[in-house]
Amino acid sequence: MSIPRYNLPRLKGKIIALDGPAGSGKSTTAKLLAQSLGYIYLDTGAMYRALTYFALKIGVMPSDKIKLAALAKKVSIEFKTENDINKIYINGEDVTTAIRTPEVTRYVSEVSAHKEVREAIVAQQMEIGKNGNIVAEGRDTTTVVFPQADLKIYLDASVEVRAQRRLLDMGKMGVTTSLEEQIEDIKRRDEYDSNRRHSPLKRAKDAYYVDTSNMTVQEQVEWIINLIRKTVK
Ligand code: C5P
Repeated sequence: MSIPRYNLPRLKGKIIALDGPAGSGKSTTAKLLAQSLGYIYLDTGAMYRALTYFALKIGVMPSDKIKLAALAKKVSIEFKTENDINKIYINGEDVTTAIRTPEVTRYVSEVSAHKEVREAIVAQQMEIGKNGNIVAEGRDTTTVVFPQADLKIYLDASVEVRAQRRLLDMGKMGVTTSLEEQIEDIKRRDEYDSNRRHSPLKRAKDAYYVDTSNMTVQEQVEWIINLIRKTVK
């Protein structure tokens, strides 16, 4: 998708944080917003996915919090933009596609629910955002990673719409799946992410709420741009 031209205020050093469940439109919106603002785009879920991929590859169980936490502290996770594509590397391996497989998706919520894993990954996220100029998205970016963010948004959408979006995304990546499978997967992850003990997905008190079920990506981005114009000084 080409970068829309928005007449944005000159924003320096700000932090914009977007949270919401799987398929709520966070990633697409955050990515476009970051491009429009000339900001860093931080996909926090991709970091948990990369760790999950790596753990599965070397045979560490998603339930083994001790080994996972040690791994989370040791591995190097890097984001790089190559030909306008946001890539993610773990210990030098390009895992941009590998982290989106159904297998990683199945285990990532369990891996990311461990407190010690979260502490290690959150520390890296805070470091990436320490100078601002960042649009971050995930489950706890408005509540835990960047509670001081200049603008906080909670995106939501119905389970059916979210599953349909995921189905399209997976299709583009060549992954075969069905709508039923996506609905099941989204419900399972919602349940896991919202009810876990450490940093559950919840709406920050000062986050703006938007239901994107009937919105296009462009409308979502424009809605946020308007908020930026009105609220970020
Ligand atoms: O955003 P995405 O769906 O790729 O995230 C994958 C998983 O990573 C989520 O279902 C959630 O379990 C976990 N996650 C998290 N905290 C974040 C981002 C993602 O626990 N900030």
